[in-house]
Amino acid sequence: MSIGLYIHIPFCQQKCLYCDFPSVAGGAELYADYTAALCREIAGRGGLLSAAAVDTVYIGGGTPTVLPAGCLEEIGRCLRANAAVAAEAEFTVEANPGTLDGDKLAVLRVIGVNRVSLGVQAFDDGVLAAAGRIHTAAQAAEAVAAVSAAGFRRISIDLMYGLPGQTAASFRAGLEMAAAMPVEHISVYGLKVEEGTPFARMAAAGSLALPDEAEEEAMYDLAADFLPARGFARYEISNYARPGAECRHNLRYWRYEPYIGVGAAAHSFWQGERLANTANVSEYIARAMAGETPLASREAPGEAVAMAEYTFLALRTAAGVAYADFSVRFGREFPLLYGAATERLARQGLLAVGTDGVRLTAKGQKYGNIVFGAFLPD
Ligand code: SF4
Repeated sequence: MSIGLYIHIPFCQQKCLYCDFPSVAGGAELYADYTAALCREIAGRGGLLSAAAVDTVYIGGGTPTVLPAGCLEEIGRCLRANAAVAAEAEFTVEANPGTLDGDKLAVLRVIGVNRVSLGVQAFDDGVLAAAGRIHTAAQAAEAVAAVSAAGFRRISIDLMYGLPGQTAASFRAGLEMAAAMPVEHISVYGLKVEEGTPFARMAAAGSLALPDEAEEEAMYDLAADFLPARGFARYEISNYARPGAECRHNLRYWRYEPYIGVGAAAHSFWQGERLANTANVSEYIARAMAGETPLASREAPGEAVAMAEYTFLALRTAAGVAYADFSVRFGREFPLLYGAATERLARQGLLAVGTDGVRLTAKGQKYGNIVFGAFLPD
């Protein structure tokens, strides 16, 4: 059996104005203790991580590359000592422009990282500043060049659309820049104004000027048309890759495969249970260092929920739901369970129904939430 390992680094240089991810701004005084706590948790999970072949590792955040090179090195040492990371494993680290330097890139190579995912978001200085990003467009381009020059062949960048001040023309210029760079994978996310963020407060105060719906839809359509035309196939609703460059770790999530998460706020999916660690960084450190579990919740979804989750996640991918896989996993026949819903969605042009499975149409990818809602248990 193989397994994925996710390692969460809950620190950022500053919080972006739209972000509700579990991360805190600053916290440099905690970096060393947090790294030690992570290593304690990884060592505690060593039995599991050395019994199964770890074939994907993903260090995400937050901004993992705010950690100094020494902390990154320690995480690598701890992995080598406690986890059976396969020789051909995909090993990703998320990084932000403005937080990388030669020492960190060298350490990432040494500890086995072979894929770097850069949070670029836009190649427009006005848009970046309005989103509270710490870097300029030029610094983002320099970061891609530096990662490539350091010898990383697998580079991904994240872009966003629907940001304040963004136009379809500036978004298109960003796509052009991205496609001309040495990157093999591009993630494209639409802005969602999440509760509790500065953007939500600005929206409530009437001071958040977002592109209108037509402009936002134009950006969505641009990505969906432009990137495949430049050789980046859309293999998941928000993800585009050159052939063979799909993110294997994220495919685990969409394929309902097991993974273990370590670190504050990290989630695991293991033996049918969903588990989450405490998101409180100080509490996480204290519990991990005391040898206690940092777990804050665990639940085993019932069969109806598990089948719905599996269906949403599989439908996010270009491959969609394969009837045979569904039947092996749940001992149930997808067409018998969901025949009425799939026929209705197919009539609406949202689902393509084949003899071996179902997948979203281009229209279904755009209106995914309507499709996903149809599979929710009563
Ligand atoms: S760098 Fe990423 S994780 Fe950190 S605040 Fe910005 S969007 Fe959130």
